[in-house]
Order: sequence, then C-alpha cells, then structure tokens
Amino acid sequence: MLHLQSDRKLSMSSADQEKAGDKPAPITVPAPLSSLEIKHTKIFINNEWHNSVSGKKFPVFNPATGEKICEIEEGDKEDVDKAVKAAREAFQFGSPWRRMDASQRGKILNKLADLIERDNLILSTMESIDAGKAFTSSYFGDIPGAVKSLRYCAGWADKNHGRTIPMDGDFFTFTRHEPVGVCGQIIPWNFPLVMFAWKIAPALCCGNTVVIKPAEQTPLTALYMGSLIKEAGIPPGVVNIVPGYGPTAGSAISHHMDIDKVAFTGSTEVGKLIKEAAGKSNLKRVTLELGGKSPVIIFADADLDNAIECAHQGLFYHQGQCCIAGSRIFVEESIYEEFVKKSVEKAKKRVLGDPLSPSTQQGPQIDQEQYDRILSLIESGKKEGAKLECGGGPWGNKGFYIQPTVFSDVKDDMRIAKEEIFGPVQQIMKFKNVEDVIKRANNTTYGLAAGVFTKDLNKAMTISAALQAGTVWINCYSAMSPQCPFGGFKMSGNGREMGEYGLHAYTEVKTITMKIPQKNS
Ligand code: NAP
Ligand code: MG
Repeated sequence: MLHLQSDRKLSMSSADQEKAGDKPAPITVPAPLSSLEIKHTKIFINNEWHNSVSGKKFPVFNPATGEKICEIEEGDKEDVDKAVKAAREAFQFGSPWRRMDASQRGKILNKLADLIERDNLILSTMESIDAGKAFTSSYFGDIPGAVKSLRYCAGWADKNHGRTIPMDGDFFTFTRHEPVGVCGQIIPWNFPLVMFAWKIAPALCCGNTVVIKPAEQTPLTALYMGSLIKEAGIPPGVVNIVPGYGPTAGSAISHHMDIDKVAFTGSTEVGKLIKEAAGKSNLKRVTLELGGKSPVIIFADADLDNAIECAHQGLFYHQGQCCIAGSRIFVEESIYEEFVKKSVEKAKKRVLGDPLSPSTQQGPQIDQEQYDRILSLIESGKKEGAKLECGGGPWGNKGFYIQPTVFSDVKDDMRIAKEEIFGPVQQIMKFKNVEDVIKRANNTTYGLAAGVFTKDLNKAMTISAALQAGTVWINCYSAMSPQCPFGGFKMSGNGREMGEYGLHAYTEVKTITMKIPQKNS
C-alpha cells in the first residue's frame, strides 16, 4: 500500500482548465487518492497474471521524489513468445474473437471506456505518481482522452466497409477489410494511458489481437488496464501486456517472426531500429510515431495574447515532454521584443510542485537520463550564445524538476534549435518575411506538427500548404481529438494514427473476384 500526501485545494489552474476544454469558471477538482494500492505488477497473458520466465523484476520510481513505488515482473523474449502464442491462438480463424459480431466488438470497447471512466480517480492518481504528470492533466486530460479514443474506435468496429468494384470481364469483385493479425505495440512514458488507448483501440476495433509493451518507466496504468480488459469481457489472448525493457522485450517484439504488424511511438533513433528489425525478420508492417522539432510561426498581425498563450502551452505542457512540443518559435521582427517579454513573464509564473497538488502545473521530468540530457542541452544553448531569459537550471531539492526556461536570440544552427529537447525549454527566434520563415521552418529532419498565427487567412493557407508537417494548427496549438489523423512527415514517422486514416494500418484489404456465369454460356 502506498500512502500519498495530497493537497486538498480544490480548484484547477487556468492552464489546466484550458487543456480540459476551455472551461470558463473554476472547476471542482476531486482530491487524488490518498492511498493507492498497486495490485497489478505481473505480465498479463491470456487474461491471467504471469511471473516472468527469467524470474527477474524491475523497479518503478516516482519521478517527483525518486522513491521506489514497486517492482514489476520483467518481460523478455520468452515472455514475448508466450504472449505472441496467446495472441495468435486468439486470432485463429473461427476463434471467439474472430467470430464475434463486429458490433459486439464495439460494445466491448465502449464497456472498457465505461470502466476507465469509473476508475478515473485511481488511474489519474496512478499516472501522476508513475509519470510525474500533474493530477489535473491526468484527471481532465489523459484519462478522458483515453476514453474518447476507445469510444471513437468502438463506433468504427462495425463500419469498416469494403467496396464492390466494376472490374473488366464477367466478374463480381469486392473487397473485404480484414484484420492484419497479431499486432506488436511499443509505447513511451510521456502519455502512458493515452498511448495505450491509441494503440489498442484501432487494433481491436478492426479485429486484431495485441501484444503491447509499456515503457519501463511507466507500466502501472497499462497493467491496471489488464484487469479492466478482463472485466470488460475481451476474450483471453486478445490483449497481452508485457512490461519490460526496450532492448530486450521491445526488440523481441520488433524481431518476432509471428507478429504481423508493429506500431511504435518514441524516439527516431529507436524507430529506425524497429524498421530494421522488421526488414531483418518477417517484413511485418510498421507504423512509427516519432519525435519532432515543431515550428510555430507568429506574424505581427496575430492576436498576440492568444499566440503567446498557445506557444507557452504548446511547449511547457507536461514539462515539455510532448512529441508535438512547439520548440522552435519564429516571431516576426516587429513584435519580437514584446513577444519575448510576455513569454518570459508567463514562464516565470508557472507553478512547479507535487504533481498530486491541484495547483501544480509542472511536475518533474521522467527520469535521470532525460533530466541530464535537458540540462546539458540548456548548457549548450548558453555556450552557443543564445540569450537565457529565465530558468536555466534544476528546481527544488528532490525529484527531476527543471526550471521553466526561455531562450531568445536563438540561431537556427544551435543545438537547442535543432535537437528535440523534450523538456521545459522554449526557443524564440526572429524572422523577417514569409519566404524566409517557410524555408527555415522546413529546415529540419522532422515533420510532425506546426503552428501559424495570423489574422490573414491567405497567409495562413499558403503557409499551411508549404509546411512539411503532419498537422498544422492555425491560431491554436495542440488541439487534438481522436477523429483527426495524427502522424509525421519525414523522420517524424510513417503512417497515421486515429481518425479513419488510422484504421488503414490495422486493416488488410482482400480482393475477392467471382466469375459470373452469363445467360446462354
Ligand atoms: P525510446 O527509447 O524511443 O522509448 C520508447 C519505447 O521504445 C519504450 O517502450 C522503450 O523501452 C522502447 N524501446 C527502446 N529501445 C528499443 C529497442 N531497441 N527495440 C524496441 N523497443 C525499444 O525513448 P526514450 O529513451 O524513452 O526517450 C528518448 C527520447 O525519445 C526523448 O528524449 C524524446 O526525444 C523521444 N521520445 C519521443 C516520444 C514521442 O512521443 N514521440 C516519447 C518518448 C520519447 P524502454 O521502456 O526500455 O525505454
Ligand atoms: Mg530509450
């Protein structure tokens, strides 16, 4: 049993209110659970809990305090093999899952969503202690976000229609949209439950089975989901959850000869390994959602306060640990000074503290490795001549906290302007004209997201067409919903997740052609 201290001030920060959907008045926030029992620490295969074959376990830490929360059974190749066997069995032609009505699959996914809603308080408390996520963000953002994704996909379960095709000759041709098979899914630590839902929901609605590996830093909500998956009535073997490390369990998934598709979210570096592993093994289908260095372009004619607020949230939300973080902010020369001044004022007002406190906007970074990497990138910014406007170092005396940091006078060739920082570090650059800023915005190997702020719609449309990014926001940032496809151009990834486009990755198209006997023939 883990005992948590909770601050019982019951009002949400304005920033989190905005994330929760632009609610105008203060919202009542329930207090996080003061005592949380971690019941699920084992490997979930065939709707049962298993010890690791090797007998090994690994520790999970609270990034706000550095304290150990619990130990988890450590999955490796043998455990992945067991999970894949179960998933293959569940996928056999004629199995309960394969024979289940598509509408029933939808009903079960909705039931799973109901159970997450029921257990929001448990899941948000767990997400906060495991991932250092502000409780209000979990309770009003991540958990309802996971629910929405499941409900969205539940609606698709019986609507994944094939077509009839007017082929040449005396034939009747139609397509069936069939599931791909056993899907390996590897997810990161920044949005543990949201990513879990984003991966399993489209896979299950299309009738696939799943072997999923949560990040070693954040396995708790994924394992809790195992218990809800069983309770929702999803048949054994359909979802199998193998906690463990990337180079062992993750690599076993990407190299597996009996996994038909792998979906990965994480770093570009590991994304490359996943594709390589697919090529070296069975050419499994691969979708990748990788990092970014997303540009945000702010013109002098924009609503300045809105642009400043969106740029601030777009970077600092969840300690900057978002793949879409708007981490290269290009501001038109004439408003540059004012933009920097107001952005710095905002960054200085950010409330850091215990993620479980309702007033906390910024918690700790996920672990020592990320913390060290962010601090070293901040040092590189100082050395390379960017102007440190605020922050620039650690915060507090325990946990992996970093001060909200703003750099101005950033040049395109500095490391902080080129590398994904994944921390609370904002880079503000200056630009003079449209052609110049488009070139500079696109001058990156990434292409995940971008933002443009202007009242001139012609300019907004020209720029959104010119930007090489999977998502472009105009006069807003980070606005996402499961109806909208998400993914990257260039080295930010392959394929799209969510939305109707997201279903393609989980569907094989089968063309069936039948001879039509002609009269008198
Ligand atoms: P990562 O290594 O790419 O981790 C993502 C997932 O891949 C984790 O489940 C990880 O397992 C697994 N993995 C690692 N090596 C693997 C391998 N050889 N084969 C198969 N799976 C493997 O990311 P990270 O190290 O946690 O973070 C590093 C950087 O990645 C961050 O600084 C950030 O730039 C980027 N990142 C991006 C996102 C995103 O949303 N696109 C999310 C997180 C991180 P483990 O549990 O062992 O790590
Ligand atoms: Mg890693």
